Amino acid sequence: MSLTGKHILSCDLFDRDTLEHLFELADTLTAVSRGEMVTRVLEGAVMGSLFFEPSTRTRLSFDSAFMRLGGAVSNTTGISISSISKGESLTDTSRVVSGYFDILVIRHPEENSVHEFAQATHIPVINGGNGAGEHPTQALLDMYTLRREFARLGKTIDGSRIALVGDLRYGRTVHSLLKLLSLYKELTIVCVSPQTLHMPEALLKIAAGRGHRIEETSSPGTGMRNADVVYTTRIQKERFPESETSISYSDEFRVDSTLVNRVCRPDTVIMHPLPRDSREGANDLSTDLNNDSRLAIFRQTDSGIPTRMALFATVLGVADQVRASLRPANWYRPTYVGPHDAPFYKGNTR
Ligand code: ASP
Repeated sequence: MSLTGKHILSCDLFDRDTLEHLFELADTLTAVSRGEMVTRVLEGAVMGSLFFEPSTRTRLSFDSAFMRLGGAVSNTTGISISSISKGESLTDTSRVVSGYFDILVIRHPEENSVHEFAQATHIPVINGGNGAGEHPTQALLDMYTLRREFARLGKTIDGSRIALVGDLRYGRTVHSLLKLLSLYKELTIVCVSPQTLHMPEALLKIAAGRGHRIEETSSPGTGMRNADVVYTTRIQKERFPESETSISYSDEFRVDSTLVNRVCRPDTVIMHPLPRDSREGANDLSTDLNNDSRLAIFRQTDSGIPTRMALFATVLGVADQVRASLRPANWYRPTYVGPHDAPFYKGNTR
């Protein structure tokens, strides 16, 4: 399926072949993401980045990806500094900025926002997170990371056991990830969440309908046991209705070295979309795993650049020009990626 000119609003759009093409292109673009090679396939193109919710990784990595392809980026962040605070509809904003840019990336707290935006524009819109809905590019980079980790470990994603842990109700990254995982074969997907934060039924149905085995538990110790992947998430308090603000992760949900060493395997891959909440009592993914090579969170964030580059190049129709356009970079760069991930970058110049 061709993604050229398409809006990327949901992971419903992808099939396995399309993913594979994106990931092969991301492999090629990894050298560009690390500053070893240069390409200018998007020279002259301008991306509009509209983030109406907090973001560090997603916004900066979209920007970096577009600029490393040779394009330019224009940003607006926060509702208070945009004309939306003057009562402008998303439809009007979308139509207006469509005249300025070649592609748009939008993040907004409401689920329907990206669809409204897409309907009012003739240029491609990429969903950078729509409320508790989806976060398609996070799922792409998560799958790309998994593909690399599994290749390194000599394992296949098909047939694996994946534990999704935490706030599965409001966590948009796991919603998108479950859709992409469903494209693989014979997975056991273990949904581990507090009682009130279950994975939405409709998403479980998609996975079950594709033949995957679904297990649900509220005990991380049980759900993570022998998993090939443990994907943990932050509790999405900002999306809770007034009546639920007291819900929090119990101690059990703290994924730390004690729990991991007790129930995980030596080759379990531990992931998190970040940010993790490192405040006392938050019971999110613990920093005491930072020196554990199973922790893939910074390899995930690194994967965000080549994955988003591959998506931009594909949606803007220049994917087949990338390889021939590459030339070596000649500026200074450090010889290691660090501090903990250097061994995973063997075979590259750094
Ligand atoms: N950064 C991710 C998101 O925007 C995860 C999170 O915020 O917890 O959904």
